[in-house]
Amino acid sequence: MLHAITFDLDDTLWDNAGVMEFTEHGHYRWLREALAAWREAQGEAALPGIQAHAEGLDDYVARRLRLAREVPERRGDFTWLRLRALEEQLEANGLNRSAALMWAAAAMNEFHRLRLQVTPHPEADPLLARLSQRYRLAAITNGNIHLARQPLAHHFPVAIAAGEILAPKPDPRAFLTALDRLQTRPEHAMHVGDSWEEDILPANALGMRAAWVSDRDDRPLPHRVQRIAHVKELPELLAWLEKRG
Ligand SMILES: [Mg+2]
Repeated sequence: MLHAITFDLDDTLWDNAGVMEFTEHGHYRWLREALAAWREAQGEAALPGIQAHAEGLDDYVARRLRLAREVPERRGDFTWLRLRALEEQLEANGLNRSAALMWAAAAMNEFHRLRLQVTPHPEADPLLARLSQRYRLAAITNGNIHLARQPLAHHFPVAIAAGEILAPKPDPRAFLTALDRLQTRPEHAMHVGDSWEEDILPANALGMRAAWVSDRDDRPLPHRVQRIAHVKELPELLAWLEKRG
């Protein structure tokens, strides 16, 4: 008997690649331009290390990767990594500490504003509305979209930012935290997601049902895992499972 369904967000309920690309460049461009204008108003030159977009961005990415290695428990907390990397980069290029903290925080506000511009699959909203009448729903994401402000947030009474609780999927604690808040047990829950390693394997290992959103059919599916090509096929899968009992 299924009581609860947990959903991955990125590339399950919307396509994410375009948004990430646009957000990555967009917030960094905003920082470079806003900071240059602020410095110009004070009669100061633009910061050398971030003046060129591609070089500045490469250095920012390298700092994030290094921080993730140095502080492994934060490796999935992308907001923390970005904020620290920006602070570090701005200070390394000559801003004083308080200005670096302020500008890094402002850039991350812009990041979150852009990151929210995801377009859910058109079927997702009515699908979740219908499912929520029958099942308790949760979102479990490794991404750092603002969970209370994302466009499908109202469907999810429980939403877990797995990286921010320092347990990015496939860590089972992300799933167990969601199930605990939904007041259900793994055997009464299904997880829906696109990643074999981060969604399907850990959910299956916990004893949850799993629906793998993928158009690949080259893998044998373990017991209690089914594949759907798109999340819009989920009602059909649930009806089939129910009929089978
Ligand atoms: Mg995903």
